[in-house]
Amino acid sequence: MKNCECPGAEKLHGRFRGCGYRMTAGREAVIKVLQETQEHLSADEIFSKARVINPDIGLTTIYRTLEKLSMMGEVHKLDSGDKRGRFELANSGKGHHHHLVCSRCNRIIDYDDFIDDEVRLLKEMEKKLSKKYNFAISGHLIQFYGVCDKCK
Ligand SMILES: [Zn+2]
Ligand SMILES: [Zn+2]
Ligand SMILES: [Zn+2]
Repeated sequence: MKNCECPGAEKLHGRFRGCGYRMTAGREAVIKVLQETQEHLSADEIFSKARVINPDIGLTTIYRTLEKLSMMGEVHKLDSGDKRGRFELANSGKGHHHHLVCSRCNRIIDYDDFIDDEVRLLKEMEKKLSKKYNFAISGHLIQFYGVCDKCK
């Protein structure tokens, strides 16, 4: 495997290794911002935090970078119901979790204390879907929409 030329890329995100992909300052800043938050940030929020790290970064760069990282599966783009996508690292320190999205305050709640039935059902679904569509499932993104306890 050939190593990425970009300094720090290996440390920041193992999956860029060997891709020959040159990390721009924009990408580094976006990943750093996402690594340092527990929240699900919008592009605008990422932009204002990224500027603290690197004042030369423009909003367009942030948008492009997020798009690219989403396409590569490095970042998950979440629909929070207010038409502003929220972003989260696919391999965040939080580990695998699902989301509860409040459509009033657009809060996104992470949970990983899955209900037993949930896990069983998902495994069953993945098995059946991959058989039915001859599709090798590698993961899933689950979001439930509704109204949170504060907005009810
Ligand atoms: Zn899951
Ligand atoms: Zn709410
Ligand atoms: Zn999350």
